[in-house]
Amino acid sequence: MKSEELFNESKKFLPGGVDSPVRAYKPYPFFAERAKGSKIIDVDGKTYIDYCLAYGPMVLGHANPEVMAEVILQLKNGSAYGVPTEKEIELAKMVVKKVPCADMVRFVNSGTEATMSAIRLARAATTRNKIVKFEGSYHGAHDYVLVKSGSGAMGLPDSPGVPEETTKNTILVPFNDEDVLLDLVKDQGDSIAAIIIEPIMGNIGFIPPKKGYLEFLRKLTSENDIILIFDEVITGFRIAEGGAQEYFGVTPDLVTFGKILGGGFPIGALAGKKELMEMIAPSGNVYQAGTFNGNPISVTAGLTTLKQLNHSFYSEMNLKGEKLRDGIRDVLVENDLNYQVAGLSSMFQVYLTEKEVWNYEDAKTAQIDKFTHYFQTLLNNGVFVPPAQFECCFLSLMHSDDDIQNTLEIIDKGMKTIKN
Ligand code: PLP
Repeated sequence: MKSEELFNESKKFLPGGVDSPVRAYKPYPFFAERAKGSKIIDVDGKTYIDYCLAYGPMVLGHANPEVMAEVILQLKNGSAYGVPTEKEIELAKMVVKKVPCADMVRFVNSGTEATMSAIRLARAATTRNKIVKFEGSYHGAHDYVLVKSGSGAMGLPDSPGVPEETTKNTILVPFNDEDVLLDLVKDQGDSIAAIIIEPIMGNIGFIPPKKGYLEFLRKLTSENDIILIFDEVITGFRIAEGGAQEYFGVTPDLVTFGKILGGGFPIGALAGKKELMEMIAPSGNVYQAGTFNGNPISVTAGLTTLKQLNHSFYSEMNLKGEKLRDGIRDVLVENDLNYQVAGLSSMFQVYLTEKEVWNYEDAKTAQIDKFTHYFQTLLNNGVFVPPAQFECCFLSLMHSDDDIQNTLEIIDKGMKTIKN
């Protein structure tokens, strides 16, 4: 197998053979040759229905023709300038129009940079140092937030190399628990700069907020002058045009984006209320900068993507999601399995546990060893889901009824593999 050969070669030059930990799975990951629509094709010529979708960005499917055409036009005019472009204004205007909390936007290169900058801004605005994050949430790979993190870091000890002085200011709380936060804010509220939250936890599978939880957070933070940051790197432009904040009707002070905003190219952004955003350099003195910030290729791809995300797009994605999740529930019933099917709109995951999942501790009851067998069965049969129980799966506009039907048959095989 060419993928196996490439992985053996890769391990000599890239740590663990990959450039991001979750990509490495046993015995070896497939290496991509190309991708189109709902499919990804490996170097051995095998086609997979793709529910990883590059971990979220490819909401229109791979190689969307409009995005490709605009990107090629832009490429011919240069790929980085180091000076502003009109398209940056256009994309910022679009974000402001779609996203309730956004008056202004700063484009960066990744979700990691976006959350790092949002936290710095919140600390500057409040002149407080502490931040609160949720167990199992993932906000990128920077030091402030690499504590009991989700995604590839899920279940690993916190990373060496992160100074205690940095993380002593990061307070962990369980998701969906009001009492813990009430006590915390009562005790330490006047030293907390921000609460950063994935409004739907998408790096530990899929965990929605309990009814009223986001409203509770909004009230608590407003009353205590704490900045509420929604990390919508996954949910932004996926759950609704205005993201989870529109879907749940709760407006944070700051929001972070990545993934879909770049239409398949690297991007990140923070956005929020004008008075906060204007504290960022050069209009204010909170430093944030980047050689590739507002890169014209990423901005072009983002603009062309966002223009295609209208009301009918979201209705269609909801239908596809419901069809797949209902189908998976039927498969589980037929196999006499009482696992949890979680999801909303075009996000989903099957937790291999009988316990309802509302937080990190619940998620950890999932049978990870069984998930590995399930994943392998799906992969062998041409369905690619992220290779870990604690990632979320995604649908794109290009996933057809046939894709969904085929996938359900293969999920049935996957469930049969792990039944005993
Ligand atoms: N925040 C969330 C919610 C994410 O899911 C991710 C990445 O998966 C990040 C931040 C970090 O984004 P990036 O990988 O672009 O740095």
